[in-house]
Amino acid sequence: MSYTPTIGLEVHAELKTETKMFCGCKNEPHGSEPNAHTCPVCLAHPGTLPVPNESAIEKVLMFGNAVDATIATFTEFDRKNYFYPDIPKAYQISQYAYPFIQGGELGGVALTRVHLEEDTARSQHDQGEGSLVDFNRAGVPLMELVTEPVIHDAATAGNFARELQLLLRTLGISDANMEKGEMRVEANISVSKDLQLGTKVEVKNLNSFKSVEAAIEYEIQRQIELLEKGERVMQETRGWDENRSKTFVQRTKETAKDYRYFPDPDLPKMDIGAHEPFKKVRLTEKTPKLLNEKRAQYRSLGLSDEKVEVLVSNRELDEVAQKLITKGVSAGDFVLAANYLLTDITAMQIEGSFTIKDLNVEAFIEMISMLQKAEINSRTAKDLLGELFAPNVSIRAIATDRGLLQVSDAGAIEAIVAQVISEHEAVFVEFKSGKETALRFLLGQAMKISKGTANPTLLKEAFESKLQ
Ligand SMILES: [Zn+2]
Repeated sequence: MSYTPTIGLEVHAELKTETKMFCGCKNEPHGSEPNAHTCPVCLAHPGTLPVPNESAIEKVLMFGNAVDATIATFTEFDRKNYFYPDIPKAYQISQYAYPFIQGGELGGVALTRVHLEEDTARSQHDQGEGSLVDFNRAGVPLMELVTEPVIHDAATAGNFARELQLLLRTLGISDANMEKGEMRVEANISVSKDLQLGTKVEVKNLNSFKSVEAAIEYEIQRQIELLEKGERVMQETRGWDENRSKTFVQRTKETAKDYRYFPDPDLPKMDIGAHEPFKKVRLTEKTPKLLNEKRAQYRSLGLSDEKVEVLVSNRELDEVAQKLITKGVSAGDFVLAANYLLTDITAMQIEGSFTIKDLNVEAFIEMISMLQKAEINSRTAKDLLGELFAPNVSIRAIATDRGLLQVSDAGAIEAIVAQVISEHEAVFVEFKSGKETALRFLLGQAMKISKGTANPTLLKEAFESKLQ
């Protein structure tokens, strides 16, 4: 009989607010001088009092609203007691019995709860003798999401984490960069042969989607091997060693009892519905178009599933696509514009010559429309792409000035063809005898004479008419 793995995820995400969770210090945990953003509150000086950050609460509620969860009516903050150098109060302000959010679903995975807490400081153990503590991160608002134990394989867990990152970014509530620790995933994993859940092991330090999947695969295998040998799985917290691709014991798992949770007497109890900015209708107003809605919209305009995923997972490209829609471009123009975005414009961004943020959307729309009307051809468009990154630019004016407008006038085309034939009579004879490469050469010469502006379809027709 085979084993069924059961996995539940716990994900922490740093919220993107101006200030920390309970004080006025700047919320900038990464990239500043150590201890640049501290004050008596987040350093836990005696006699200081916390004040909850309204914007952080609003962001958690927006998340709850987006995943169709139940938003608490009554809620409060609790103290989670433990002593560690990176937790100056010797307790962390968190939520226990009354989280802001309960239930809801994301990417087919049922959620248990989402609560708000404060991040810990960051300890550094590799800076010479002793350990150093940087309090810039202490008190940064941290959203903790817990899923139901309903995941049964590593790939589903990885996909859930990806979908969550996308949603956090779409909502603009967290940058959720895993390498920076802005989004941290922990997995609770057990295996069992019957309906009873096995002993669960918590795996931490998963700082990439790849690690999430690899650690779960490894841990499932490790637990099965233990049980097959007749040994027991210990309830413990394990770390993930990226280099050795193994989990290792960190400590035996604490239980809720060990933390001696109790409501924080320094913070008010809250009636969420009574506060105007927290009302559902206000939250919905602030919520940007969500992922599935965007996916459906892009598909309905004619984009392939593959292209849709690239767009929704790249914030800058997605923003341009949304602007195109807001400006009312047709489905045909949208698909053509998306192709340029996903190929040439992305390549220019990668080369570092331009940044998509500077793309002038009006000029881009003008160029696409000129292409569709055959006023310029795709070769000319390539030459004009670099002009799309300047403000107040008219693509039509540039194309006209530089003589790049496509030549479709029958007389002009006829004149170009006549010139090419007179200059390359021998090749023209080969063409008449049915040589395909000869036509390609003649077309190339015609494009050269017209500086790339001749309408290629009309040119080809004109040469072919000479065969009769
Ligand atoms: Zn502070």
